[in-house]
Amino acid sequence: MTDRIIQLLDLRTARLPVPDAVDSAAADGHVADRRGRPLRDLRISVTDRCNFRCTYCMPKEVFDRDYRFLPHAELLSFEEITRLAGAFIANGVEKIRLTGGEPLLRKDLHKLIEMLSRLTTLQGQPLDLALTTNGSLLARRARDLATAGLRRVTVSLDGLDDTVFKRMNDVDFPVSDVLAGIDAAAEAGLGPVKINMVVKRGVNDNEVVAMARHFRGTGHIVRFIEFMDVGSSNGWRMDDVVPSAQIVERLDRDVAPLVAIDPNYAGEVAERWRYLDGSGEVGVISSVTQAFCHSCTRARLSTEGMLYLCLFADSGYDLRRLLRGGAEVPGVDDAALATAVAQVWSQRADRYSEVRSEATGPRPKVEMSYIGG
Ligand code: SAM
Repeated sequence: MTDRIIQLLDLRTARLPVPDAVDSAAADGHVADRRGRPLRDLRISVTDRCNFRCTYCMPKEVFDRDYRFLPHAELLSFEEITRLAGAFIANGVEKIRLTGGEPLLRKDLHKLIEMLSRLTTLQGQPLDLALTTNGSLLARRARDLATAGLRRVTVSLDGLDDTVFKRMNDVDFPVSDVLAGIDAAAEAGLGPVKINMVVKRGVNDNEVVAMARHFRGTGHIVRFIEFMDVGSSNGWRMDDVVPSAQIVERLDRDVAPLVAIDPNYAGEVAERWRYLDGSGEVGVISSVTQAFCHSCTRARLSTEGMLYLCLFADSGYDLRRLLRGGAEVPGVDDAALATAVAQVWSQRADRYSEVRSEATGPRPKVEMSYIGG
């Protein structure tokens, strides 16, 4: 199934020190990077492990029995994650998404959700607290997650045909169990449920229309994602990408006429479309063919506390070291953590997707399962 696997160069050790304080980067909720982009979203990877081996994300040939996942002591504890979340909120973050790996594999995740749901934004509003999951454990967990304070879920599902889906998840996992997870999430009030489908040419692009038809009229929102060159192990090629514009054309022709609608908020990555007959909404995420770096307000915190400024980064800033301290240095307080986040963000200038080219393709990048999808 996976025809091109590239062996992994372990970039998890590529750590950048947090830059020294500069006056302009105090944590006052108004930090902007060097391109004027504010900090609004934080993705937190709570585990680098996953029970799926999606061929485009964690190919079996690389993430096998010998692969060294992070040992438990390296992971941020729930208390550490919550403290760091506070430091990001102090810099303007309003939305937190838990991801991984498969976040529902992290033991007692509902306890973390409870802790995070007690935090409020700088405006005193509740956080927009969301989770991205492969849905495999959602049917039994949705209610507890909602009770703990989770507000929304996004479920990944790459097709409705069992053969296609099993070939992609590569662990023989059936579509029906994911659909049961989606139903349970909707019943638990975690809607509107978003359903992410990564589209890879020649692999599952013939599932696009079936997916749209299946979820039309349910209130769930399917988002078609261009296959991206994240990480270094999935053998990405431009030829594998189905441009979102082609997907919209196909849906408009073969499902029902569509009309473009405004984003929900500035910096939303999905381009939104609704069916003219009022039967629902779909989205496309064109991270390859129409880069949205200029409006990217998102930071990523890895499972072990590295701050990444871009999904395509090759190194992260070591916040865990600040938090825990070292042999000779004590850990810092919350105000210093918030200032550190401001320092790092204010230096940010990356725009990988806008300058993506064949030349940037082979550059090593950290894996999505580690940094958080
Ligand atoms: N395990 C969870 C899941 O399956 O949703 C969360 C982690 S997963 C890395 C997050 C999302 O990233 C999924 O929707 C997955 O399909 C997407 N993803 C992974 N590799 C990708 C790639 N190369 N291109 C586009 N999307 C990708």
